[in-house]
Amino acid sequence: MPDNYILAVGAHCGDMEISAGMALAKLARAGKRPVFLHLTPGEKGHKTLDPETYAAQKREEAQRAAAAFGGEALFLPYRDGELPSDETLKFQIADVIRAVKPKVVLAHWTGSMHKDHTAAGEVMPDALFYAAIRGFERELPPHGGVRMLYTENWEDPIGFRPELYMEVEQQYVERWESACKEYALFAGGVSDFDYITYYKSLARVRGLEIMSPTGLAQCFGLTDLARRRRVSDI
Ligand SMILES: [Zn+2]
Repeated sequence: MPDNYILAVGAHCGDMEISAGMALAKLARAGKRPVFLHLTPGEKGHKTLDPETYAAQKREEAQRAAAAFGGEALFLPYRDGELPSDETLKFQIADVIRAVKPKVVLAHWTGSMHKDHTAAGEVMPDALFYAAIRGFERELPPHGGVRMLYTENWEDPIGFRPELYMEVEQQYVERWESACKEYALFAGGVSDFDYITYYKSLARVRGLEIMSPTGLAQCFGLTDLARRRRVSDI
């Protein structure tokens, strides 16, 4: 794969598209392709469909959404609500990082109301470490130098700090909305939460906070070490 990939690691199909998709739509236009790694389908939240049926539906929706973002979808075979925070998962994600070779990885912030989101965020630093270190012998060669950013997700608000504001234009909000609506979850009728209105409103608020010329922005959180700045003057 060429080295222009952004890997978005979500606990459930849809998490990364809905929370980071405005930025990803803009980056895709600039030639940076998103790869969505879905750790579970997020199949247990449907009011009428059984989990197995809904899982199959969500995987198809994920494929269509990824294509609409100009990217692709990958899957790990975990179940909704049962995502472990263990070494096996860390190495599985590390292997994907070695295969995709992204420059940027998007991850869940760990202060979440959903245990899968917390687990998905917790495993990422070690997954990046295992991906980068040659001494961990895997099928593929190591890949390091990856920047990790946390996405701003309504389910992950505890202690989240919006620190990196990316300006986005209205056209990318529209691309995000149409791509996300490949999921029944975001088109309406599955959940009582109004995802589209929430994230559109959030983009407007974040845009106002930085006086974005477009009036819109998508936020990311930084890792602790990423806050270090080398300067020659203050
Ligand atoms: Zn989720």
